Amino acid sequence: MVRAMFDDRRGYAREVGSRIDASPTPYHAVATAQATLERAGFRRLDVALPWSAADVARGFVAEGGTLVAWAAGDDPGAAVPFDLAGAHTDSPNLRIRPQPDTGRAGWRQVAVEVYGGALLNSWLDRDLGVAGRVAVRRTRGGPAELRLFHVDRPVMRVPQLAIHLDRDVNERGLQLNKQLHMAAVLGLGDERPGAFRRLVAETLDVSPDDVVSWDAMAVDTAPSTLAGLGEDLLSAPRIDNQVSCIAAVDALVAAGERDGRGTTAAISLFDHEEVGSTSATGADGVLLAGVLERIVLARGGSRQEHLRALAASRCASADGAHATHPNYAERHEPGHWIRAGAGPVVKVNVNQRYATDAATQAEFEIAADAAGVPVQRFSSRGDMPCGSTIGPLTAARSGMRTVDVGVAQLAMHSARELCGADDPAQLAAALTEWLAGAGR
Ligand code: ZN
Repeated sequence: MVRAMFDDRRGYAREVGSRIDASPTPYHAVATAQATLERAGFRRLDVALPWSAADVARGFVAEGGTLVAWAAGDDPGAAVPFDLAGAHTDSPNLRIRPQPDTGRAGWRQVAVEVYGGALLNSWLDRDLGVAGRVAVRRTRGGPAELRLFHVDRPVMRVPQLAIHLDRDVNERGLQLNKQLHMAAVLGLGDERPGAFRRLVAETLDVSPDDVVSWDAMAVDTAPSTLAGLGEDLLSAPRIDNQVSCIAAVDALVAAGERDGRGTTAAISLFDHEEVGSTSATGADGVLLAGVLERIVLARGGSRQEHLRALAASRCASADGAHATHPNYAERHEPGHWIRAGAGPVVKVNVNQRYATDAATQAEFEIAADAAGVPVQRFSSRGDMPCGSTIGPLTAARSGMRTVDVGVAQLAMHSARELCGADDPAQLAAALTEWLAGAGR
């Protein structure tokens, strides 16, 4: 059933777009993934409770913006290896400061801090909503409750300076200072202390006094859409890297339905990749290793069996890849041009910015072939440093052999990104075979 979903590639791209729209923040991305997994019979496990062998047959752990899920195969042994797919839930954006109310010259404003390597210009002149999670006080002295919120209407805007006041902007290039130029306009009038808190409180129907703190961010209100003359493009926010997250979740559900699997299929969707991954819920933390070890222990395995399982495990780290830009083709390695719509990209970097090696590349290409999906090979220009992903971190943390893959896209880290409409389904189909053990 799920496999048929990947065969209708345009239909799948629309589905991916609507799930991205439902996931304005990493916390919402986890909630969206959780809903899909629960519909497929996966059960959420509490890390604070003991787990039994029955508990770990098919389950997931969700912590903030991070989710780890798995589906055991037919082999009940404790040392059974994992076939893992990893991705990240966060995207660069503008985050709301803890004391955000500000303003000047008759404008009420919201102070923001830039999260990750955002293309700042892409946040200008967009109708912005706001979303995130809020700690709400329930009783005096009692614990706060974390609640998600999403104001999906244009309450904010970061207006660009008129060209008449910045005459050579097109020739010199737009220069934006993160401190001076990115505060969002919230409306007219004088600065009103508590305005942002009241907006959040109204949205959640609670008293402003009970809104204690937030992890909140600006969100483009324009919905995702298929675009282009032949609707062969997906125009959406957060393609990097929610496309990979959604493909990984669906691949896990699809692989979980396969009989005769000898490994445990698993996915890890991490927060904080865009800011270096060092956090309790980041890829450089202990969360994934802890969950994998607990699965082995719950099956009655020993530490030795855990280490044996890890030694035979593998990870496909899925993250956005650079399609060759038609207006800047010279920025790309001439022998490794990448086309949107032409299948998942395997990313190779000898300096280990990507974790791919000959062995893992071969395993992934064989898995993609089993899915009937073509593969492209990326290598960056020698005089241009390339980005990195959670791949090398996962490899170093777990000792797992790892391949870096992803969907080709343009405008990476823009508020509005662009990829081929057929590629999310092709990535999901390849990841399904990978999680089902193809290429081992
Ligand atoms: Zn990414």
